[in-house]
Amino acid sequence: MQNHNDTRLLVIGGGPAGHSAATVAATIGAQVTVIEDKVIGGAAHLWDCIPSKAMVASSMRISAIRNAGRLGIDEVGPVHLDMGVLSDHLHSISSKIESSMVDLLDSQGVEMIRGRGRLTGLNTAVAETDDGDIEIEFDKVLLSTGSRPWVPDWATTDERIFTTREVYSLPELPEHVVVVGSGVTGVEMVHIFSSLGSKVTLLVSRHHVLPHRDAEVAMVLEDSFLERGVALLKGSRASGVERTSGGVVVHTEDGRSIEASHCLLAVGSAPNSENLGLETAGIETSRGYIPVNEYNVTNVAHIYAAGDVCGELPLSSVATMQGRKIARHLLGHDVAPLDYRKVAQAIFTEPEIASVGLEEVHAASEGRKVRITKVPLAANPRALIQGNAHGFVKVISDPATRIVLGGTVVGHHASELIAPIALAVTAHLRVDALLETLMVHPSLVESIAEAAE
Ligand SMILES: Cc1cc2nc3c(=O)[nH]c(=O)nc-3n(C[C@H](O)[C@H](O)[C@H](O)COP(=O)(O)OP(=O)(O)OC[C@H]3O[C@@H](n4cnc5c(N)ncnc54)[C@H](O)[C@@H]3O)c2cc1C
Repeated sequence: MQNHNDTRLLVIGGGPAGHSAATVAATIGAQVTVIEDKVIGGAAHLWDCIPSKAMVASSMRISAIRNAGRLGIDEVGPVHLDMGVLSDHLHSISSKIESSMVDLLDSQGVEMIRGRGRLTGLNTAVAETDDGDIEIEFDKVLLSTGSRPWVPDWATTDERIFTTREVYSLPELPEHVVVVGSGVTGVEMVHIFSSLGSKVTLLVSRHHVLPHRDAEVAMVLEDSFLERGVALLKGSRASGVERTSGGVVVHTEDGRSIEASHCLLAVGSAPNSENLGLETAGIETSRGYIPVNEYNVTNVAHIYAAGDVCGELPLSSVATMQGRKIARHLLGHDVAPLDYRKVAQAIFTEPEIASVGLEEVHAASEGRKVRITKVPLAANPRALIQGNAHGFVKVISDPATRIVLGGTVVGHHASELIAPIALAVTAHLRVDALLETLMVHPSLVESIAEAAE
């Protein structure tokens, strides 16, 4: 292996993209410095993936208790949620993850600076810390500063009008929350609050939730929301929100006014690219995002950008993979560009929704001939035993070559069940590989083999 001890890599932003690039580059042998102004692990661990999925875990536990009667358990009393205990639990998970990430960087000899990083030239930067500015020289730099929830100009956040960042420190469960935005974040929040016991109204600006996904998938989710009493206001786009004496009132473009106790804004994100000194190094931006090529190189050859600040596919898993590939690329190793069509994705609702590769809606819009096979989970013995038989498994393959092109799983543990299909898509396996894999019986994953039939 080459010796890279003389390459100085600076990473600004220690989220999934920055952390993975730093660890891989340090393993290969570069001298790495990370500047992070809040928490190593980034927004992903502080506000996004980890706390939101920990809240999903609590909400799943509550709905399992409420539905225990179906499995013959009928002595379950009223369930009370203590937001203070839940909030402490979320913070303890985040801090455990952060300390293990810091320990890893430490053990690899990565220099960590707490402060705000800013480029001051093509090979120089400054870290603004509580103890003063630190000047840094580098050979290569990675900008991985992430993004933040976008707040529309018709809203001002406070203790009742908030984004996902404030959800985890709410003093009590909202009585009635209006969720604005029916993309992935919006529907996950609807799932959390409706399971925990809040009344929920969801504003859906289009015909159905998750507008870019298969309508069939969206319908399963909408049915589950309706079953638990969520009010879906379709074709309603929010145009304003204001405080009232007892709560909030949300206004829509079609003239509705919805009174509630709280309003959660889940309407997209904005890149953290301000005050980074991009202009001093001549780095181009587009609507605030930093465009990159297939190797995550910006318009300046030794300057890389990764994660949410690039505006590609805003997922922690993608940011981590980009970081790993960047570390190898900037140290001169051969890397294959990341194929965004093969990223497995999940929506943590009940049922969960997971997909990878080609979706039916995209095959149809491309006019592409595909073979689609689908089985309902209602035919799966394990799903029936567990009392969670809502959903289906769908496998999409090429009719001529039988190569697996994509798949969707809707159901309990879909985020785990998608793995064999993701492997098949990544490794260009034929449906026969899924068919011939002898799965455990009874198990949910048996439905994958059956769907490949
Ligand atoms: C509610 C929610 C739930 C999500 N759930 C999932 C999920 O389940 N799975 C998934 O894959 N993705 C999920 N995501 C998306 C995921 O959180 C992001 O894609 C991921 O955090 C992006 O990683 P990143 O490294 O680009 O940035 P971040 O995680 O945002 O990290 C960037 C870091 O840079 C630091 N920083 C910014 N500017 C500076 C500066 N000038 N100097 C020093 N440091 C700086 C920030 O403090 C931050 O720590 C979720 C998003 C949201 C909003």
